[in-house]
Amino acid sequence: MNAATRPAPFFIADNKGLDLLNSIAKPASTEIEWIQNGNDLLDWLEKAGLVNQQDVAPFRSADQQSACDAVAAEARKLREWFREFVHNHAGKTLETDTIKALVPLNTLLAKSKVYKQIAPSKQDDENTLNHDSIFEWQDYRQWESVDDLLIVIAEAMGALVCTVDFARIKNCEGPTCTLWFYDVSKNHSRRWCTMSICGNRAKAALHRAKKKSAALS
Ligand SMILES: [Zn+2]
Repeated sequence: MNAATRPAPFFIADNKGLDLLNSIAKPASTEIEWIQNGNDLLDWLEKAGLVNQQDVAPFRSADQQSACDAVAAEARKLREWFREFVHNHAGKTLETDTIKALVPLNTLLAKSKVYKQIAPSKQDDENTLNHDSIFEWQDYRQWESVDDLLIVIAEAMGALVCTVDFARIKNCEGPTCTLWFYDVSKNHSRRWCTMSICGNRAKAALHRAKKKSAALS
């Protein structure tokens, strides 16, 4: 499926690092890859809100295309490496020892060129209500090459590792569903990627099973 025929990517995980794992999925009978090439990668990162459209516009030019496609291939590799990490650690709290497995992320993160600027507080920024200054810190990134896109991805993954309880990371209970999410529900009771995909499917299956057993009794 190419960019014109496939549905919009899923952002159902309540965490960008996990949303990235869900950028390849099989919601129905066909597997969909949302990061097939460089343009796909830029589209996905923009939709995720991880990059600013203007910042990455130069990477869409024809002379950047092959470099950008190569970065997309690296991004898919990084995604699959991180999928294994999440798969190995989801459902339990991380242990200090796990740091050894995270070296590839720290290596990428060491290349980050993020810097701070003082800027007028944004009117719609909820932080405005919490401090008295009309100014605020804003993070900017000095973009040097398409390779920097991998740093953005590593930051989303690092944020997952550093800010959430892995015990609440879950895989959807749909029997063939591969989607991951961070369960932010109050009583930790989220079971499905979405009600419209797996939740309703499970409800329908339960309904059919009940009908069958009623017919047999
Ligand atoms: Zn599901």
